[in-house]
Amino acid sequence: MRLYGALEAGGTKMVAAVFDENGEVVDREVFPTRTPGETMPELTVYFKRFPLAALGVASFGPVNLNRKSPTYGCITATPKLAWRNYPILSDFRDALGVPAGFDTDVNAAAIAETALGAGRGLENVLYVTVGTGVGGGLVINGKPVHGLIHSEIGHIRVQVSPDDPMPGGNCPYHGPCLEGMAAGPAIEKRWGVPARELPPEHPAWALESDYLAQLCATAMFTFSPERIILGGGVMQQEFLFPLIREKTLKLLNGYLCHPAVNNGLADYIVAPGLGTASGITGAYLLAREAVKE
Ligand code: ADP
Ligand code: ZN
Repeated sequence: MRLYGALEAGGTKMVAAVFDENGEVVDREVFPTRTPGETMPELTVYFKRFPLAALGVASFGPVNLNRKSPTYGCITATPKLAWRNYPILSDFRDALGVPAGFDTDVNAAAIAETALGAGRGLENVLYVTVGTGVGGGLVINGKPVHGLIHSEIGHIRVQVSPDDPMPGGNCPYHGPCLEGMAAGPAIEKRWGVPARELPPEHPAWALESDYLAQLCATAMFTFSPERIILGGGVMQQEFLFPLIREKTLKLLNGYLCHPAVNNGLADYIVAPGLGTASGITGAYLLAREAVKE
């Protein structure tokens, strides 16, 4: 049976896994993200334990996805300086000698959710993670969108609420962008308490759902996805979903006509079908694509 390596490369941890051709996880191990000099040998040793047909890498970004570029497969302007301009894809290809697929962590998650998760049967899906950052992956006509670079929907401008005690936001590049307002660290900085400790009645969540509703309405007006999937640590607070749906409907204000909208967005703004496994499953699907190519 063929085996496929999958890596979800994150800023704090690397999730490495081996899948069989039925999509079952055969093995899985988590490594802390240190410098490439420390972490890459650990990952290579791990993957070399298995006779892999291919590897898929779903990486934190920004990354270079342009196959015609000499630096295709590099991590680019990350604030994690040791990884800046690091050729993660070509180093894995050289070390393992197998075909390797590559995309952003969130595009990979969008691919997996579209193929096997909450977007099954659809061709146009937006996946957004609300965690340490806010990142979005977009599948349109069944394919992940790369475009000029790749989506950075987490950095869209949002309208700052007059009730926000931290109107300047927390993004080092943009201040009050969506990530600067709504990612886990922004919530913690604003209220002085980790997001998971804030009770449902805390005013934090009215603000949070306000900002995420702005994202959803903007996405609906721009790419018109058939479904929006919201994952990541902050979305573990499940009571956010009805708040976000309600506020998104207010922002749409009756302008979009579709049964999904008339239905109160209950089947439209949803949690991931693969739980926290969207990214690593997407990496596996990238490996499968790499074999076909
Ligand atoms: P990452 O984005 O680093 O991959 P996560 O998606 O788990 O990881 O996001 C981590 C962030 O999500 C942290 O800022 C944390 O405060 C927040 N978070 C994690 N779990 C919860 C929770 N149950 N409720 C609210 N916020 C959470
Ligand atoms: Zn930003």
